[in-house]
Amino acid sequence: MRTITVKFGGTSLADSAQIKKVAEIVKANPERKYLVASAPGKRSSDDIKVTDMLYSCYSEYAKGSEYSGILAKIRQRYAEIISGLGIDFDIGAEIHAIEDELRKYPPADYLASRGEYINSKIIAKYLDWPFVDAAEVIFFTENGIFDGEKTFMAVNEKLRSMPNAVIPGFYGSMPDGSIKTFSRGGSDVTGSIIARSTRSDVYENWTDVSGMLSADPRIVDSPKGIEHITYTELRELSYMGASVLHEDAVFPVRKAGIPINIRNTNRPDDPGTLIAASVPEGVKRRPVTGIAGRRGFTSIRVEKSQMNGETGFGARLLYIFSRNGVPFEHCPTGIDTISVVVNGSLFEAKREEILRGIKNELAPDFITIEKGLAVIAVVGEGMSGSKGTAAKAFAALAGADINIRMIDQGSDELNIIIGVDDSDYEKAVKSLYSAMIDRN
Ligand code: ASP
Repeated sequence: MRTITVKFGGTSLADSAQIKKVAEIVKANPERKYLVASAPGKRSSDDIKVTDMLYSCYSEYAKGSEYSGILAKIRQRYAEIISGLGIDFDIGAEIHAIEDELRKYPPADYLASRGEYINSKIIAKYLDWPFVDAAEVIFFTENGIFDGEKTFMAVNEKLRSMPNAVIPGFYGSMPDGSIKTFSRGGSDVTGSIIARSTRSDVYENWTDVSGMLSADPRIVDSPKGIEHITYTELRELSYMGASVLHEDAVFPVRKAGIPINIRNTNRPDDPGTLIAASVPEGVKRRPVTGIAGRRGFTSIRVEKSQMNGETGFGARLLYIFSRNGVPFEHCPTGIDTISVVVNGSLFEAKREEILRGIKNELAPDFITIEKGLAVIAVVGEGMSGSKGTAAKAFAALAGADINIRMIDQGSDELNIIIGVDDSDYEKAVKSLYSAMIDRN
């Protein structure tokens, strides 16, 4: 029998009605053996996530203020879930355990992790599956870096003999036994680690949308969904901000060749998005898989005559940015020019140091700074074999009367990166979408 690791996000576990849907999904397929749970998320747009309540509880506590009101609200959220599920669960004991810890000045991470911890215990009880505390199997090194080797061994050892288990997402433990969390949204990462360590065939990541969309729905009206996407394409798109998944969740499963299937708890029959190393044979795809972008870049253009003959010019230029802690996003070059495109606010914070470095160390003829650049990535592995994709993209922008300020293409023909004015950003995404995806 195959093994599937399932991870359910906060909205899928926000109340008892949602948890009942989750139980149905899990029970519908016995291959779904390991469940990674988030803390209860928002039930409506103006609701508060339990994790956020826990962080506020911690900040009140750290200030020496009264925190019992927030803790009581958290208790109430769980009490409603427990009564809705009709299970026997002592939430009072869990809250008392937190209060006991709070007498010892625990780290914020401990408190934040309790959202997933309690929720997973409740779900385990409801499913009648064993609960495995993530602190026992997910480890960080002394420097706070995820310890893959130790974790994979521990998870494997623990879960190998267990037909099912519920594991809380978001946290693990430090060598001294204290709790440490991943960054926000980190239950996705836990799910990926569990899938990898149990050698699962698929990692199903259940959320509240039917997979990824080919463009930002706040800009494009009802964009088409993406049924298949490769890990490489996902990286190109998530890097630009179109992610439905925590960035770090890709690495453990990708390494092991395990596909991720993004699914919708509220529409379990939808196929969602399948993210894999390659697209299954016979699946027909558009040349362009998705379009994503971001505003707020700055381009620093350096011009020096006969730059192309000067060894190490580019390396020295990029080093000036790197030693100031400003990563470069794109770096289009000409014969005597080179531009470095960076996050505008990171650049502003180090502007003087960087410009001084360039002037003193590279003696350029000119430096031109262009602010207010939006960068759009048109991504698709299908572009590499097909002719005329770039022409279509540029024609679409010309047709919409948009001036292109930068063009860059990755060496693998996987993407076309286009820089436009911040004020043209939405219009550009719309016109690219309609030419490259909607009409294909
Ligand atoms: N509950 C955590 C958060 O809100 C982790 C997660 O849900 O993935 O960030």
